[in-house]
Amino acid sequence: MPIHPQFPLTFTPLDVAGLTMRNRVIMGSMHTGLEESKGGFDKLAAFYAERASGGDVPGSSGAGLIVTGGISPNFRGRLGPHSTTLWRSGQIPKHRKVTDAVHNEGGLIAMQILHAGRYAHHPFSVSSSPIQAPIGRFKPRALSARGVERTIAHFVRAARLAREAGYDGVEVMGSEGYLINQFLATRTNHRSDAWGGPLDNRLRFPVEIVSRIREQCGPDFAIIYRLSMLDLVDEGACWDEVVTQARAIENAGASIINTGIGWHEARIPTIATMVPRAGFAWVTRRLMGTVAIPLVTTNRINDPAVVEQVLSDGCADLVSMARPFLADPEIMVKSFGGRSDEINTCIACNQACLDRIFTGQVAGCLVNPRAARELELPAVPAPVDVNGKSARRFAVIGAGPAGLSCASELARRGADVHLFEASPSIGGQFRLAQQVPGKEEFAHTLRYYSGLLKRHGAKVHVNRRFNAEDAKDFDVVILSTGVKPRVPAWADLSRSDIVTYDQVLRGEVEIGSRAAIIGSGGIGFDVADFLSHPSSTADPAVQFQKDWGVDPTVDTPGGLIKPERLPPPRELWMFQRKSTKPGANLGKSTGWIHRATVKKRGVTAVTGVTYVKLDDAGLHYELGGEAHLLKVDHVVLCAGQVSVLDLAQELQSKNQDVHIIGGAKAARDLDAERAIEEGYLLARSF
Ligand code: NAP
Ligand code: SF4
Repeated sequence: MPIHPQFPLTFTPLDVAGLTMRNRVIMGSMHTGLEESKGGFDKLAAFYAERASGGDVPGSSGAGLIVTGGISPNFRGRLGPHSTTLWRSGQIPKHRKVTDAVHNEGGLIAMQILHAGRYAHHPFSVSSSPIQAPIGRFKPRALSARGVERTIAHFVRAARLAREAGYDGVEVMGSEGYLINQFLATRTNHRSDAWGGPLDNRLRFPVEIVSRIREQCGPDFAIIYRLSMLDLVDEGACWDEVVTQARAIENAGASIINTGIGWHEARIPTIATMVPRAGFAWVTRRLMGTVAIPLVTTNRINDPAVVEQVLSDGCADLVSMARPFLADPEIMVKSFGGRSDEINTCIACNQACLDRIFTGQVAGCLVNPRAARELELPAVPAPVDVNGKSARRFAVIGAGPAGLSCASELARRGADVHLFEASPSIGGQFRLAQQVPGKEEFAHTLRYYSGLLKRHGAKVHVNRRFNAEDAKDFDVVILSTGVKPRVPAWADLSRSDIVTYDQVLRGEVEIGSRAAIIGSGGIGFDVADFLSHPSSTADPAVQFQKDWGVDPTVDTPGGLIKPERLPPPRELWMFQRKSTKPGANLGKSTGWIHRATVKKRGVTAVTGVTYVKLDDAGLHYELGGEAHLLKVDHVVLCAGQVSVLDLAQELQSKNQDVHIIGGAKAARDLDAERAIEEGYLLARSF
């Protein structure tokens, strides 16, 4: 195979366990929820096939290897009451659909075997010891010695059945705080029998699993072992234990070692957007050279240039990406074909993938409404206005996420579409969001949409306010005019010390050393982060380790040290009228990070207030029936938004074909996921 001019290491094949991976990228395990849904394996087959496919680019391929979402080896190991298992041959045919679909595209696929242990959301959970997880609802029962033996046999049975179902290998989930991790760490393993106590005993559980799988499945079957290299919890492993474990797992017959970072109960972000790109690749790098089998690095790698860099820095032999394949099934094809700038980049928001999974829904993707809906929404939709209809002209008004998504999909379907934006640049709320520290990735979504619009010939008019008169030139008008900040009645915007969040994020005002934020929702937290963010010249990955207390030597158990935070640039107060926890509605997987960040920076939360006024003395409010006054330099309004719908009535009264999407349609609970999906689905409806 010729050397790839741009990404030579990424596109160097790798032979492992009798298989040839066509490139160095693994599509990492990610539960989609399709596994448990009706007809889910047909949908999964289509989902994985797209990600294995090399498209129509000669010599190209999708992921070098796909790892499925976690499949449990027995009843007690299920994550939830309805989670998928593989324990009998009658379950093989549905898995066959998936393996056949991937193989038809020339891809490879391994099944992840996951035993949830004490993370199970059902009352039949088991663990090494009967210790409830801080994030668990049920106290697990300790496995008896016979129970341990049975569980090992169930792992082996699942691997054997996986092989029969056509999988090219299995990934044994030994990290993230699941059952195997619970045996390995003294935090959770308090046993005094042959499976507890010294490290050799605690290691026996994964070693027996891997060696017996190798024995049963033969040499030409890949065994990937996901090893927790950085537990990020008290009483987790130190580095010497990680090295001992890696060597033992290699000797037991593993083909590849994948990196696990952080237990689910860890209170340090590991994959959210504020984690710097490849921010944990240093962990895998430490292990390079200590074992002979290939190592995989992972976490917050979402771009082909970063993949190549990580490989050329010697951090790993392979790179695993999961969410980036949700965002763009063609990420490898575009990288191979020199079209990296066309990639729909995962912005690490977790909103439509993990947050949906954690609330029992099927995963999707905020920036890719087709994700996990490949059968329902074919990749190449029919052109607009086929079947003899005369071609319609479309005007999309407002280039925020909803308008961009709608206009670009219409253009992709060959429609004559004009996108009007009153401000000098496209992006709307996304342009504001990318100013928030850690949300810089949002800029990539705008780069993606700009490219789509250009390539498909949409006419984009910035600095251009569309009026009712303009509408006569169009057959269809789509209003995606977005939102504007809500201004409470007591807030007098003519005062220079009262400003709205968009003015702050656009950098139009210099906020003083004491400020009050009105509203503690998503935007209130973003603004609090923006205004309390200390400036640092340190390398972002190093600063992240200091901020969150990650030990770069992993000499301490779990790799935890005392955080060293820089002082915030100003004093902040966050207010809300409700008495509930501030930020209670933030995403399940990221809300705790936002709350912890502002708390650690000393932001004071004040809830249950009634606002009175702002005057030269400061902000007047009532709390518990008492009057309060807070001296501040500025008050920043983050009190929700209202729809901008100036044109709607006038156009509708002229019998114009008008559609309203995104924030213009409903400002309440607006989020980018809904805006992008609405725009996309409307564009596909014509
Ligand atoms: P939001 O999350 O609904 O929060 C609005 C805040 O304004 C609430 O704290 C509310 O609290 C307050 N408020 C409402 N009416 C008010 C009034 N008349 N006077 C004073 N305060 C008032 O909305 P958002 O912050 O504007 O965010 C918009 C959307 O984007 C939301 O869906 C949000 O989840 C999403 N978003 C999420 C994130 C994230 O997850 N990190 C970041 C940005 C945006 P009280 O009514 O109790 O005072
Ligand atoms: Fe990435 Fe967000 Fe899509 Fe999840 S929802 S895959 S984090 S862009």
